[in-house]
Amino acid sequence: MILQDTIVALATPSGAGAVAIIRLSGNEAIPIANDVFRSVRSKDLNRLKTHTIHLGHIVDGDKVLDQVLVSLFKNPNSYTGEDVVEISCHGSTFIQQQIIQLLLRKGARMATAGEFTLRSFLNGKMDLSQAEAVADLINSDNEASHQIAMQQMRGGFSNEIAKLREELLNFASLIELELDFSEEDVEFADRTQFKELLNRIEFVLKRLIDSFAVGNVIKNGIPVAIVGEPNVGKSTLLNALLNEERAIVSDIAGTTRDTIEDELVINGVGFRFIDTAGIRETKDVVESIGIQKTFEKMEQAQVVLYLFEGTKFQELGYEYLSEIEKIKNRFPLKPLVIVINKMDLLSETALEEIKQRLSSADLQLSTLFIAAKNKAGVEELKERLYSFVNTGALRNNETIVTNTRHYDSLLKALEEIQKVNYGLQSNLPADLMAIDIRQALYYFGEITGQVTNDELLGNIFANFCIGK
Ligand code: GDP
Ligand code: ZN
Repeated sequence: MILQDTIVALATPSGAGAVAIIRLSGNEAIPIANDVFRSVRSKDLNRLKTHTIHLGHIVDGDKVLDQVLVSLFKNPNSYTGEDVVEISCHGSTFIQQQIIQLLLRKGARMATAGEFTLRSFLNGKMDLSQAEAVADLINSDNEASHQIAMQQMRGGFSNEIAKLREELLNFASLIELELDFSEEDVEFADRTQFKELLNRIEFVLKRLIDSFAVGNVIKNGIPVAIVGEPNVGKSTLLNALLNEERAIVSDIAGTTRDTIEDELVINGVGFRFIDTAGIRETKDVVESIGIQKTFEKMEQAQVVLYLFEGTKFQELGYEYLSEIEKIKNRFPLKPLVIVINKMDLLSETALEEIKQRLSSADLQLSTLFIAAKNKAGVEELKERLYSFVNTGALRNNETIVTNTRHYDSLLKALEEIQKVNYGLQSNLPADLMAIDIRQALYYFGEITGQVTNDELLGNIFANFCIGK
């Protein structure tokens, strides 16, 4: 992959804003910019120092396109490691396009998606997992996933892997050295130390692999299913939680046939709500498809909110309790919150009666009473939801793996390390052990980018937006 040419793209979001930044990177970035820039003090950009800002105009022949600020970053001290020029112009899309077109005519090429970051990686400015964190950061829409991406970008997780890889590499060389002396019975690699290293690596790999479950959920939002019979107030509750009129509320039972997904952020963690049709027995075909969907959604959800209407619960209590029992049997490990809605319609005695019934079924702790319509109890419900989040790892600022590609490589690396460990215990010949170690090193390298190929790079950087 040879990247010598000069690329250009808008670095700020497309559309109109107060200012926009157009970024050029490559060998010709400064001469190309100089060609279209008239400095207020008639300075030549080629002769100016790195990390300086200059006021002037972008001109196309005699025509002045815009007044701009030009920032210079000379290689290697730039984002890409190449010469970089950033032109801050006025925000109209018309001006942006005029300037970009002009730069293209002067010899720059339109950057492809993620190409600035790709160059940064290829020039050793960041490793692969950091580059991927840039993509995650661009896409993160809640504080927790932003925090993880920032940490990864600072290199927390790849540093750890790179260090272990180096130690392992060291042992690999010693063991391979032993092969050259196979006639004599020598051991350059201290087996006790080696065993200790393998255990340490196994521990780190397992922790990172486990973190993926937390990381994945935080990155994508925690799925919460809101389940209940038609008309119990699922859509109203969803609206109350989201504080908007997004879901459809109606008085006709069974209206919410399709599922609606929406996200709410509680204390920096995203929750995705899935409003589903109820699970009432029915002969209506459309609705029984809905019921099937409900079970599927419950399966996917991390938390289930099971809604009941207060007055109906008082009436049909025992039936409902057996329904709850059924769900608990079907999903024994899933956190279930029983939500009794329309509390406002319940008399004092009715409320007591329901509470007694719940406590005799040992369900009082999993139950909340709300009135979704008046938003009563909705805050408590939010707190309850947040209590199901495993935020320990976040609070301790531990490394969290969010990337499927890293996760796959970590799993494979662990498998190889376990093979090596087993080989060590069963006195496997050094040459066979060396093969497994090499394989483990390969997977470690996949994560940090010491081992790459064009296809892998293509896949990763294609997910970026252009200009990054
Ligand atoms: P869904 O079918 O479960 O989504 O139920 P909806 O959210 O569409 O609500 C059905 C009806 O119950 C609507 O007329 C709501 O206004 C009403 N409703 C929802 N929550 C409450 C509540 O807390 N108290 C009262 N009195 N009515 C409610
Ligand atoms: Zn609804």
